[in-house]
Amino acid sequence: MENLIVKLSEDKRLEPEEYRRLLVCDDKNTIDYLHNTARETACRVFGKRIYVRGLIEFTNICRNDCLYCGIRKSNRKIERYSLSREEILACCRLGYGLGFRTFVLQGGELPDMSDILIENICSDIHSEFPDCAITLSLGERRDESYRRFFKAGATRYLLRHETASPEHYARLHPETMSLEHRMHCLDVLKETGYQTGTGIMVGSPYQTYDNIVEDIMFIGRFRPEMIGIGPFIPHKDTPFGRYGSGPMDNLPADILDITLRLISIFRLMLPDALIPATTALATISPEGRMLGILAGANVVMPNLSPPSVRKRYSLYDNKAATGAEAAEGMNELSASLATIGYRPVVDKGDWRASDS
Ligand code: SAM
Repeated sequence: MENLIVKLSEDKRLEPEEYRRLLVCDDKNTIDYLHNTARETACRVFGKRIYVRGLIEFTNICRNDCLYCGIRKSNRKIERYSLSREEILACCRLGYGLGFRTFVLQGGELPDMSDILIENICSDIHSEFPDCAITLSLGERRDESYRRFFKAGATRYLLRHETASPEHYARLHPETMSLEHRMHCLDVLKETGYQTGTGIMVGSPYQTYDNIVEDIMFIGRFRPEMIGIGPFIPHKDTPFGRYGSGPMDNLPADILDITLRLISIFRLMLPDALIPATTALATISPEGRMLGILAGANVVMPNLSPPSVRKRYSLYDNKAATGAEAAEGMNELSASLATIGYRPVVDKGDWRASDS
């Protein structure tokens, strides 16, 4: 099995069946070798530097009804909010003071008429903080909207494809949504010039190893600059609220373990990629974030949203949002990174040297 890892590291690709073998492998030494090789690759490219991005969850209003997501429109139990332009700028000012040079604006899918608001927010951030990068994560929008946001100063966009299998996609989303449209959005984002991120949840309902292999093959073809991989965690007020997390229902292995394997596989496939150790990973295990870094992740996104709204941006139950997960916990984050020999860096951390 170690030959497969050497092959992946050298050729940056494997055959579908070979990826599958890595996912189901039950030999601990092989998996340790996978993580060590991925970690060495990340260190070779980025050193012991972990990029820190300030995450602003600016609205939980959403027109979509993804079956797994706590902010889906059918969830009548959450109190909806939207931060004003001034409140978003206040988050950026706080983050700038803490040294952050990338702001990630994430939210539910607002109606098309909100384009102008989003555009104005991007322009405001861009003019007040010209040395900062703006990343958006606002889901599926019109082609024209992506272009407008780019012109207004956003240069990165995160849109997980969620699953590369149309059948699996249909089981996770309402009929009004399609994988085809999601993929179209990803293509438009790339064409527009965004550094584009995609990814999946690990252990989402009905997911199989074959689905994950399809996801790996898709990511190998699409070559995103950022890859978001996090465990699925149920939210009690969604149709999947009672779906088991922890050991997967369909997959016999542990979702933490599979998430870490995927981080390592993607690091070896795309050594330059920005791969976060996600909040969901930190939520399922107190060591999740550090284990993600030791498996080859190189980004963390502490929460810069006003503490009063953090609980309302509840994608899943028991979200980690304090201590090293929060922007005000930077000292704690630095201290925990130091215990594994890493340090946070707040610069833009561009994937391409030519990025503005
Ligand atoms: N609306 C935008 C979109 O769809 O890309 C951004 C917000 S959306 C809530 C961000 C990501 O949260 C999704 O891509 C999904 O992978 C993740 N997410 C949603 N529900 C989740 C859950 N129950 N467990 C883990 N991750 C979840």
